[in-house]
Parts: sequence; structure tokens; C-alpha cells
Amino acid sequence: MASPLVPSKQRRFAVDVVRRLRKAGFQAYWAGGCVRDQLLGREPKDYDVATDATPDQSRALFGPRRTLALGAAFGVITVLGPPGAGQVELATFRRDAAYSDGRHPDYVTFSTPREDAARRDFTINGLFYDPIHERVIDFVGGEQDLRAGILRAIGDPAERFHEDKLRMLRAVRFAAAFELRLDEATEAVIRRMASQIVAVSPERIAAEMQRILVDAHRARAVRMTVETGLAAAILPEVVPADEPARARLEATLAVLDRLSQPSFPLALAALLHGWVDPAGAEAICRRWRLSSKQAGRVAWLVADRGVLPHARSMPWSKLQKVLVAEGIGELLDFEEAVARAGSDETSVIDWCRSLLGQPREALDPPPLVSGDDLIRHGVPPGPKYRVLLERIRDAQLDGEIHTRQEALELADRILEQAMDKRLKKKIEALNQRIQRLRQQLAGARKQRDESGEAAALERQLAEAEAELRKVKDAVE
Ligand code: ATP
Ligand code: MG
Repeated sequence: MASPLVPSKQRRFAVDVVRRLRKAGFQAYWAGGCVRDQLLGREPKDYDVATDATPDQSRALFGPRRTLALGAAFGVITVLGPPGAGQVELATFRRDAAYSDGRHPDYVTFSTPREDAARRDFTINGLFYDPIHERVIDFVGGEQDLRAGILRAIGDPAERFHEDKLRMLRAVRFAAAFELRLDEATEAVIRRMASQIVAVSPERIAAEMQRILVDAHRARAVRMTVETGLAAAILPEVVPADEPARARLEATLAVLDRLSQPSFPLALAALLHGWVDPAGAEAICRRWRLSSKQAGRVAWLVADRGVLPHARSMPWSKLQKVLVAEGIGELLDFEEAVARAGSDETSVIDWCRSLLGQPREALDPPPLVSGDDLIRHGVPPGPKYRVLLERIRDAQLDGEIHTRQEALELADRILEQAMDKRLKKKIEALNQRIQRLRQQLAGARKQRDESGEAAALERQLAEAEAELRKVKDAVE
């Protein structure tokens, strides 16, 4: 496993990469997100370096063992750092040509820093930085926009969003995350083109929504997707159509705001809860090609949200099943956010958390019996096993039984009751049949029929009465 990242080591390594390229006679700058983050006073997550060295030249310089060439076709080489320093993406200055499908550049051409800046999406993402001379190189006016708090597309916004429609969603993410306002022209084009976002693959949309929803500014971003019309195209389920729904959206946003470092499934469940049922949530996850594990978690959170507030009045067997579920940490965080957005009454959530602090043995004791035990006990295998084992488990958790022997006795009782119920039903049905036959027989006799109908009815009646006696004998 890679060692954990140490920001100071990451940074030193990123300076080092630039220095080595310069010494070998190449141009090299930090580029994009890391420059923006540094100007905002934030620790960059990772460093991208732009250079005029070709991928082959970069590989020769850093050596094949310290580099990965997965993105070489797009001019990108990954340079691996020493422990704790992570890796640097090293990209050759390029110009992207013709987005005929609105998703991917058709091909790339190596180019100049100025053109490399111009192909990037937003001015704040189009900056270079020379870490040796500590100087920003700005071809696109990004520094000023950053100072003024404006998110602006580089060049003609309509053209840029036409090339890659995902940029509309990225605009919302960056504006929300860095608390910027959308430049007027940029916003107008997004509103006009929002419905075209569906040209983007579901995977890319989902990846962008994930980055939006795990970020602390998720509520602001979701509001912007609704206001710009992007939500109507990718998540119409949460777009309010009337006044009550608008109030519901406000409630949803208040909950989103109070989540603290949620997982993607939790944040998505918080967004969807109140708008779709668990099956609807799962359908959205499928639409976005999320893994079935993530989809399952989202659906479970949507389904079980609202259970824990009643924890104190629930049988332990019911509460315990929720507490031992894999997603309980997320469910508790969800409930806490809901509580904080409303009454601010979290004592029942705190109580649930304290229950989780018990030793495993108390929280989730091993079952008293297994399916194999039931087979050995002579219960014929079948679909009723699941129900039987669950009822035995509930009785164990609720303290009604304590030993294997008691568990098997309970199994017998449950099976007997089930048998009694079936026989009772049968007796009832036979009684009704006998009643009916008697009436028909009386009618047939009155008419003194010759066809022998009365005789046939008498035979049927005798059979039914015999069967009833047999069933009754079995009960005794
Ligand atoms: P984050 O910190 O969230 O990763 P980032 O700016 O690094 O933000 P990335 O998606 O990692 O964003 O992209 C790195 C850089 O590549 C961006 O800053 C931008 O210059 C450029 N870029 C990425 N995606 C696009 C795109 N779809 N269109 C144009 N430029 C892009
Ligand atoms: Mg990045």
C-alpha cells in the first residue's frame, strides 16, 4: 500500500519535478487546480505539472521505473514520488482539437503554455505557477477572477460548453466549492444549454455529482443545479413543481448542509429522501451506473431513515437489526443531520450511539440455533426455515429464550401452531362444503328426481363427512 500523503513532502516533490525538467532544458510549471488552491490559501490535494517535454522525453528523464505511462496518448505521464510525496501528473502543453461528440477531444496536439491555458475550462483553473521563482503566469485573467470571486468560462462560454457539456456541472461544483458567483454570460449559457447535459455519459455525471455531494458546499451546489435547470435534466426527481415541494427542497438542503464529511451514498440518500421511495432511489443509482453495493446502501438509507427516532419504543429485536447493519454509522449521521436541521433534539441518536458502544457479544450474540440444528431436530428443510430462524432469533434477542433447548422447543411450538392453523382452515372449508351439499340434497329430494342426482349428492356428502372425521382425528 502507498504510504499516507504528507502535504509538505507532496509539495517538495512537485517543486523537484519542475526543477529537474528545467535543468534538462524544458519549460515546466504547476498548472490548474493546485495553482488555484494555493492562491486561495488551501492545501492542494495533488499537483499537476505542465511542460514542453514530450511524454517520451519525460519518461527518459525520470526513468521508466519512476513513471507510469497510462495517459501517454493524451500527453500525460505520472511521476511517482518518494514515500509520502504521492505522485505528480506531468502533462505536455497541448491544444485539444474538435469535440465532435461533445465529450472527448478527437485528438491532441502538443502546443504552447498559452494554448494549454486556453483549452482549460475556467479562468481560475487556467493558471500556471513557477514554483522556483514563485511567480503566477496568467494568460486568462484567472487571478483577477479569483480575487473578485467570479467563475468564468475561458473564451466563449457557449463554445466551451458545447465542446464538453460536463463543464456546466463543473461550473456549479467550482462556484459552490469556492464560494464564487457565476459570471453573467457563463450562467446565461448554462441556463440555456442545461438540458444538453444528458449528452454526457452517466458515469461522468455520477463522478461529478459525487464530488459535488461529498464537498462541504453540497447544499449550495444542489440549489444551483436546480436554479440553472441542470437538475431538471439529470435529477428531475428533486425538482420542485409547487409551493409545498419548494418547502420540501429547503428542508432537504438544510439536512444536506448539516452532514459532516458524508460518504457519497449518505449524501445522495439525504438528497433523495423525501422525493423517492427506496426502489426509486435504487433506480437513480442504476441510471448513474453506481456499484450495486453503493446502490444498495443508498436504498437502505432511504428506507430506514426515520426508524431510529423511535428507538426507545421499539422491541430490541427490531432495533438490534438496524444497529448491527453495515451502514449504521451513515444512518446515525443521517438522523443526526435531520435532527439538527429541525428540533435539534439528538438524545435518542446519542442513546443509539451509546448502545453501539457495547461489547459485540451483548450487541449481537451468536444465534442459539442454526439451520443445521433444525435439520438434526427433524424439521423438514424448506422455505419456512428463514421465518422460523428469524422468530427464534427475535425471541432470543428479546430475552424470551436463553438456551438451545428452549430454542428448539420454540421451533416445535411454532410449527405446531402453523399446523393447527392449516387444519383449522381445512375443517372450516369442509364444514362449508357439507352445509352446501345438505342444502342441495334437500332440494333434489323435494323434486323426486329420477336422474339419480340425489344419490350422487349423498355419496359426495358421505365422502366429505368422512374426511372431516379424519382431519378432526388428526387434531386430537
Ligand atoms: P479538484 O481540486 O477538484 O481536483 P481540479 O481543478 O484539479 O479540481 P480536475 O478535474 O482534477 O480539477 O482537473 C484538473 C485541471 O484540468 C483543471 O483545473 C482544468 O484546468 C483541467 N480540466 C479538467 N477537466 C476539464 C474539462 N472537462 N474541460 C477543460 N478543462 C478541464
Ligand atoms: Mg484535480
